[in-house]
Amino acid sequence: MTVFEKNDAPGGLLRYGIPDFKMEKSHIDRRVEQMRQEGVVFRNGVLVQGDAPADLGTVLCTAGQRISASRVIEDFDAVVLAGGAEAPRDLGVPGRGLQGVHFALEFLTAQNRVVSGQEVPGQIIARDRHVIVIGGGDTGSDCVGTSNRHGARSVTQLELLPQPPASENKSLTWPYWPVRLRTSSSHEEGCERDWSITTKRFRDDGNGRVQALVAARVEWQRDPVTGQSRMVEIPDSEFELPADLVLLAMGFVSPLASVLEAFGVEKDARANVRAATEEGGAQLPYATSRPKVFAAGDMRRGQSLVVWAIREGRQCARAVDAFLMGSSDLPR
Ligand SMILES: Cc1cc2nc3c(=O)[nH]c(=O)nc-3n(C[C@H](O)[C@H](O)[C@H](O)COP(=O)(O)OP(=O)(O)OC[C@H]3O[C@@H](n4cnc5c(N)ncnc54)[C@H](O)[C@@H]3O)c2cc1C
Repeated sequence: MTVFEKNDAPGGLLRYGIPDFKMEKSHIDRRVEQMRQEGVVFRNGVLVQGDAPADLGTVLCTAGQRISASRVIEDFDAVVLAGGAEAPRDLGVPGRGLQGVHFALEFLTAQNRVVSGQEVPGQIIARDRHVIVIGGGDTGSDCVGTSNRHGARSVTQLELLPQPPASENKSLTWPYWPVRLRTSSSHEEGCERDWSITTKRFRDDGNGRVQALVAARVEWQRDPVTGQSRMVEIPDSEFELPADLVLLAMGFVSPLASVLEAFGVEKDARANVRAATEEGGAQLPYATSRPKVFAAGDMRRGQSLVVWAIREGRQCARAVDAFLMGSSDLPR
């Protein structure tokens, strides 16, 4: 069994996304070593791509080698696509191109690499800066913790959605999700948080660098006809915050299209790899539209959680075993 990884070490977002203060990398190293001893070959620094060079945008790739998808399909009896959902959600407002406005992972990955002992020339540093994190999820919280560790002058986290209640509404039933305000240790270490805020533009310092963020307050109203929530800007609510580092942590849209196109697999409506988790007729779970190609984790279900990636990896392994051997004793 061979794992192709475009970066210099395996582990995906656990290694080059989640900060060390939240998860020490020794946990990954121990598990990778165990797999190595079980016979798994890790080919790090190898990018799997189509015949044309892949467009990776700002996504981390330290690959020194390339291998084509068609070669992988030719050389192996089964292939699992587990490349994550790496395309970040962008913010198309005026000033997005200013220096100092970055995707969260550009910031977090560089810090992970530095902590692991690598040199990162031009690392984005939050020291003495007014940092604004846009996005209220786990990635945003990790940006808050990392900015504080760098010695930021101030850290503010903005979220478009309303502030959730302190405790969840237990009487809420399916299909509604009980939501509750989550406060991480990074938040407790210090930051301002604000909800129902839309970013309108970034203001320039005159030299092409971001100096301030112009935002407005919004209200979420339920449409009486469709029942759907819609965002309405509150008139005259515009305000400005000092900002010399802005980190966009608004989630991930999909896997990188170039990788999926290289394998010629069908996508679902959200541009993830289409593969069902249930058996369907002759189709094994996790099988894609392309024979002998399977998919699991964020690449199949979209941006999600570690527990889902582990579960899907295990179930997909069982499906591949059944595909190769006719049946499988692996756990469901
Ligand atoms: C900052 C951040 C914080 C998070 N915090 C949490 C948390 O607290 N709790 C939680 O449960 N989840 C968290 N998550 C989500 C969690 O990390 C992911 O759901 C999980 O890592 C998905 O695992 P995966 O194996 O599917 O994909 P990934 O972890 O994304 O791994 C995919 C791997 O495939 C490699 N790859 C991609 N394309 C290619 C290619 N063409 N050739 C070779 N290699 C390729 C990538 O380099 C990467 O190493 C967080 C995510 C982020 C970004």
